[in-house]
Amino acid sequence: MSQLTHKEIRLIRTDAVIIGAGPVGLFAVFELGLLNLQAHVIDVLAKPGGQCAEFYPEKPIYDIPGLPACTGQELTDNLMRQIRPFDPVFHFSTSAERIEPLPNGHWRLFTDDGQVFEAPSIVVAAGGGSFTPKKPPIPGLATYEGKAVHYAVRRIESLRGQRLVISGGGDSALDWTLALHTVAERVTLVHRRADFRAAPDSVRRMFALAERGEIDFKLGEITGVTGDGTALSAVTVSNDQGSTQVACEALLPFYGLTMKIGPIEGFGLELRGGRIAVDTERFESNRPGVFAIGDINDYPGKLKLILSGFHEAALMAQQAFRRARPDQKLLFQYTTTSTRLKEKLETT
Ligand code: FAD
Repeated sequence: MSQLTHKEIRLIRTDAVIIGAGPVGLFAVFELGLLNLQAHVIDVLAKPGGQCAEFYPEKPIYDIPGLPACTGQELTDNLMRQIRPFDPVFHFSTSAERIEPLPNGHWRLFTDDGQVFEAPSIVVAAGGGSFTPKKPPIPGLATYEGKAVHYAVRRIESLRGQRLVISGGGDSALDWTLALHTVAERVTLVHRRADFRAAPDSVRRMFALAERGEIDFKLGEITGVTGDGTALSAVTVSNDQGSTQVACEALLPFYGLTMKIGPIEGFGLELRGGRIAVDTERFESNRPGVFAIGDINDYPGKLKLILSGFHEAALMAQQAFRRARPDQKLLFQYTTTSTRLKEKLETT
């Protein structure tokens, strides 16, 4: 696998350009590769993995078929290993900005660093687009961001032995409360209500820990932070009864993510609820040759799950083959029985 520097090539011709190196974009490389199609992958982030690597690298995922449990980072690493035989070319820290149709039915794609791609197919696997955490309106919070205030846990070990305040009522807040209470000196979960958006089983386990005195749960909202501008010493929790100080070294607010579709909004694709409308046969948008797979698409019954995106990638690849090799017959082959594929994949 290679990573080109921006200035090496200006116009790149390939079979498919994939926007997004999240789990679905990565698996699309594999499905295209099985059909002998070459892919270039563009991602605005500096590394592969999308949400898995960015938001939950150390959190286990349990619903990837055949993998009883793997963390977001392990899944990313495995996908990178799985696609290595197909030699995809990655363009990290690069944003896909604009597309335009060519007279031959192919597409031209422009990036923010001046690269131009030409391909019969564009595969939009941009997930939630550029995702940013929702930040609570607490005075002075910004000063501590990245030092004592974290919107994602990149490395569990960096929080070992600290007193942590986690706030929020969704899956991230509950999952991290459960995961970090054995690592931290003390975890205090703060939520403004006693009912949660998180999975009921996580909520039940959190309350069980609180009853055993292994964590603290406080009803209220965080209204202030105290510290020296770098290190945090306490947060203020306020509710109907008044305000209290909770001593801590780190605050982890999990108030959800803002998913912004970003430049893709201007691609001229039909959007439904901010996502790209596709058919369920080819996962193609209203513009022939522009596909959308993974979290970025919408169709009746859509589930935003990694496994759904993997299925979508397989069907997309069939149509991408027809576009890239219009005079070749599409042969359906199992990886277990095709000699060509076996030879290629045995290098994994
Ligand atoms: P993403 O992972 O969002 O990747 C999209 C990539 O596209 C990003 O890297 C982004 O930078 C890039 N991009 C966007 N716009 C551009 C652009 N214009 N130019 C270049 N690059 C661009 N799913 C499960 O199946 N099981 C789970 O247990 C599970 N747990 C989760 C836990 C949490 C905390 C979260 C947040 C999500 C979880 N999910 C889970 C959902 C899962 O992570 C997503 O369904 C999955 O990441 C979608 O993959 P994707 O490749 O479509 O998009």
